[in-house]
Amino acid sequence: MTRVQSPAPGATPVETSLDSIELSPQSLYDKCVAISRNLWWSWHPEVGTLFRELDPVRWRQLDHNPVALLQEFTPERLEMRAGELVLYSRINQAYRRLKEYLNPGHTWGTTNSGVLGFKPVAYFSAEFGIHESVPIYSGGLGVLSGDHIKSASGLGVPLVAIGLFYDQGYFRQHLNAEGYQKEEYIQTDVKKLPMDPACGPDGKPITVKIETRAGDLLAKVWLMRVGRVKLYLLDCDDERNKPEDRELTARLYGGDQRTRIRQELVLGVGGVRALKALGISPGCYHLNEGHCVFATLEVIRERMTEEGMSFDEALRDVSQHTVFTTHTPVPAGHDRFDGGLIEEHLGPLRDSLGISSEQLMGLGRVDPQNHHESFCMTVLGLKLSRRANAVSSLHGHVTRRMWANLWPWRVEEEIPIGHITNGVHIPSWLAWQMQQLYDRNFPADWVLHMGKSDVWQQIYQVDPGELWETHYALKNLLISFVRRRVSRQCLRREESEEAVEAARNILDPHVLTIGFARRFATYKRADLLTQDLDRFCQLLTDTERPIQVIFAGKAHPADEPGKELIRKIANLRHNPACGGRVVFIEDYDINVCRHLIHGVDVWLNNPRRPLEASGTSGQKVVLNGGLNLSVLDGWWAEAYDGQNGFAIGRGQSHVSTEILDDRDREDLYRTLEEEVIPLYYDRDIDGLPRHWIRRMMNSISSLAWRFSAHRMVMDYNNLAYLSAAGGHSSDMSYR
Ligand SMILES: *Cc1c(COP(=O)(O)O)cnc(C)c1O
Repeated sequence: MTRVQSPAPGATPVETSLDSIELSPQSLYDKCVAISRNLWWSWHPEVGTLFRELDPVRWRQLDHNPVALLQEFTPERLEMRAGELVLYSRINQAYRRLKEYLNPGHTWGTTNSGVLGFKPVAYFSAEFGIHESVPIYSGGLGVLSGDHIKSASGLGVPLVAIGLFYDQGYFRQHLNAEGYQKEEYIQTDVKKLPMDPACGPDGKPITVKIETRAGDLLAKVWLMRVGRVKLYLLDCDDERNKPEDRELTARLYGGDQRTRIRQELVLGVGGVRALKALGISPGCYHLNEGHCVFATLEVIRERMTEEGMSFDEALRDVSQHTVFTTHTPVPAGHDRFDGGLIEEHLGPLRDSLGISSEQLMGLGRVDPQNHHESFCMTVLGLKLSRRANAVSSLHGHVTRRMWANLWPWRVEEEIPIGHITNGVHIPSWLAWQMQQLYDRNFPADWVLHMGKSDVWQQIYQVDPGELWETHYALKNLLISFVRRRVSRQCLRREESEEAVEAARNILDPHVLTIGFARRFATYKRADLLTQDLDRFCQLLTDTERPIQVIFAGKAHPADEPGKELIRKIANLRHNPACGGRVVFIEDYDINVCRHLIHGVDVWLNNPRRPLEASGTSGQKVVLNGGLNLSVLDGWWAEAYDGQNGFAIGRGQSHVSTEILDDRDREDLYRTLEEEVIPLYYDRDIDGLPRHWIRRMMNSISSLAWRFSAHRMVMDYNNLAYLSAAGGHSSDMSYR
């Protein structure tokens, strides 16, 4: 197969004049390449479909990566395919829409983001989950960052994003014949990703240097286009680095504490230097979780050298412009480093700041005088930001209590940590079929107002049969996906022909389908539903009103208890008492998540309250008509109103783990037996579950806009970014 060169590094394909009328094979090809090199395509299903149609088999094999797919086509072959499939006008239209999107006349941000137009937000995060073909994320935090920048793009909020490029990403998960998780790291070919070397004002690719006591680290910088947002990714795989340093950014959350602090140094300090080299001067730094908060120290250094400020002045100035978001309600979950690692990596920067190592350590300690306290990234973040927030209302309470010692003179309500509840990027998570339904029934410009409540009230005007049919179609697509995946898993494990055949027919679209997919951390209690195995099997195999359950999720490679949970659940497939109604899908990622949240009837979430900061997967389910069955934790504690889903427990906390687990397990079974299952199987003469459909409508109308990333980014803009960039001191209004 002839390979075609992708555009020269640094080229900006979209801005060249490709939209001339002549349709030579080359110009058609160039348009496709231009579309493939802006991840805008990934939240426009009709554009993704264009690529898939070119070669459906390769599309799937290539993880839905259009850059890689197009490299397998010559312009001539592409033109032939486009001719056969009558794709010309769709390609042209997609290309035109992208160009229009990139040059909008007016956006929400034009009116509402004021000062940011000159001084954008710099959004830092250790991971970005944008699409399955760009494997630089591990889970919820990354997907949230991806959704944040997509909504900033959609709203036109001026924002640049900074992250790390991991050329092996996070691991791919396989289960062996015993059901035990095996990890595989795959080397990504940078030429197959939609990114180019980032260039400075002089047009040359930029590299940043970070000094440590153990020698210099170099990082090159990639530019990835996510709609109107530019995402800059730092990458240590540079020939000029020592061999071991070239691997520093190979894996997400891999390696030991030293790897970790070095990655965080590159992200924070390197990230600020990259912005400088790019000629970008941010008005506001949004630091998403503790990994990136070293950025504040580098900005202080900049202010001191460039504006002649003293350390104290610079510190006040930087905290004025910094917004810090914390995501971790467990004390043990926060990054901490000992004094040796801090001095080794921040020593040279500390010299420039003119502070002692005790002063520096003090910035990362709750009690600066306590020499036994290690350096905590979250403490640095809280001390160096005037605006700090948690990610749900309940998480706000937990966070204020957790860090109350930082403000010992304040009562808990006055601890300056607010909350902005997480949300999801609707176009990325809304199934095409549901979008069509909304298009038919909502005002024509509903997409422009999806972060507002009014449009979603229209759901009550939709014909219940139409909503149910749409949901049923999506559920069937999910079941086909499960059958394909599970039979492939059986084949790989060389299971018997009968087992493979059974997998090809597993699950039944008429049965109430529950999905549970997330990281297999023990606090999320993936096995809560299966703990009383007899009771669980009765629910599965009830002759009149059965249920079926789809599980997915990875355990961190070092988390043995998490892997044990996976083994236990995956092996239920072999238990005859489960009647073939439990499946485990391997290698949970954005693609698997998308299929699940499009098609399930019920999304189960049962963490130990209050350990789930927010959670977002349940918000994705809402958009597609699924109902949440969840512990009143994270976002669900503020979302559930008695009629828009189902609750487990009544929001109690402060009991021992054992008592909590016992209570929640009992309540989970009771809610299923007495509420969820009867409601689902209560059908009218047309076979429609009227009361269930009503709940779907309640869920969509009350939750879709509130837990959207558009609402979230508007909140950050109005309550944090503007005042940070404008230098207003009105902090914490977002409590
Ligand atoms: C949305 C999403 C998450 C977040 O899910 P929660 O468990 O609800 O926090 C994690 N992983 C992937 C791949 C996702 O798409």
